[in-house]
Amino acid sequence: MNFEYTEEQTLLRNTLSRYFADAYDFEARRKMTGSDAGRDAGVWTAMAEELGILGAAFSEEQGGLGGGALENMLIMEEFGKALAVEPYLSTVVVAGGFLKRSKSAAAEGMIEQLISGEAIVAFAYAEPTGRYDLAAVKTEAKASGGGYTISGQKSVVAGAPWATHFVVTAKTAKGVAAFLVEAGAKGISMRSYPTVDGGTAAEVQFDNVSVGADALLTAEDGIAEIELVVDEATVAACAEAVGCLHQLHAQTMEYAKERKQFGRAIADFQVLQHRMVDMFMEVEQAVSMTLMATLKLGEDAKARAAAVSLAKAKVGHACKFVGENAIQIHGGMGMTDELAVGHYFKRATILEGLFGSIDHHLARYEKLSF
Ligand SMILES: Cc1cc2nc3c(=O)[nH]c(=O)nc-3n(C[C@H](O)[C@H](O)[C@H](O)COP(=O)(O)OP(=O)(O)OC[C@H]3O[C@@H](n4cnc5c(N)ncnc54)[C@H](O)[C@@H]3O)c2cc1C
Repeated sequence: MNFEYTEEQTLLRNTLSRYFADAYDFEARRKMTGSDAGRDAGVWTAMAEELGILGAAFSEEQGGLGGGALENMLIMEEFGKALAVEPYLSTVVVAGGFLKRSKSAAAEGMIEQLISGEAIVAFAYAEPTGRYDLAAVKTEAKASGGGYTISGQKSVVAGAPWATHFVVTAKTAKGVAAFLVEAGAKGISMRSYPTVDGGTAAEVQFDNVSVGADALLTAEDGIAEIELVVDEATVAACAEAVGCLHQLHAQTMEYAKERKQFGRAIADFQVLQHRMVDMFMEVEQAVSMTLMATLKLGEDAKARAAAVSLAKAKVGHACKFVGENAIQIHGGMGMTDELAVGHYFKRATILEGLFGSIDHHLARYEKLSF
């Protein structure tokens, strides 16, 4: 099998990597995440206009550059390396994932807005009692006047305060479906807060929010489509984690070579060398599993879901192992706010639980495979 990336993919990765190195170093990120907005809106504009990366995963007919899941993987890895908080995952991977398959008349124009950076979408799917079950939805979409009225509460909606739109999952008369709703629609209220990983999220309440029939992005019984898009997003989260893991390992190696104890660098001690080799193995396995799951996204639902769950469980384990060891080897320094390593561990810990914990994905894999 050929694992080489195309020239375009390599260019995409290098362009983004250079941009982050110039405009998004650790100090610049601290300033953005510490501001009231929690981000610098100019970064999103640059991604759309200067770099053109928001269109990388859309087809040329849709106004994009003709890529797909592999491009999302490469982009998300760079996001992980830079600890970027911009809402690529919810806007391009999730909302884009629904929109590119949607038959709704509103979808086409909306993809244009995603690519141009005009629209930012937050994914409102989790509910207080839902755990990781995508079908455990109490939010209701009642048919009314040719459209729907949506009511319910969604929890920890990442990037909600920045969003121009939400993709909301809700129960219809036939099953669970996904809807596109404008963030400014009457009946939407939110309570926002910073998250431990430097992001911004909110509890979002929908009270009799009226939407037209074209807000429906899936079938009225659309759980299979929701599972497909969330599988794509889960793999993208794995790719972001891979970016974090690379940094956790590299920064730990660097620190161990510099930090002197008992007259020598702590990297000279074999016990730490063994640990760093174990960390390296975990990172490499996470890289391979993420690539494998990305390549299997186009397979039938069962094979796809099994590959995604296996990768997510493996990557989740790597987040825990590599993160904990990175902190341990950094000693007290690893706990300080000034050092990036603790921030990478926090993001890796959030990614470990995003779209399902290790236990959840192992159980899902077991159900699908035996
Ligand atoms: C939140 C917090 C609370 C703390 N509270 C206390 C407290 O109440 N009392 C207290 O005394 N200290 C406390 N500490 C300090 C803590 O004990 C030290 O951080 C810890 O001992 C590591 O030392 P260090 O930071 O100098 O790391 P380093 O000495 O730089 O060690 C880094 C890594 O190298 C390993 N290492 C170092 N030398 C060797 C060696 N010769 N052979 C093999 N491996 C080696 C270490 O195990 C570690 O994994 C606290 C630290 C934190 C972060």
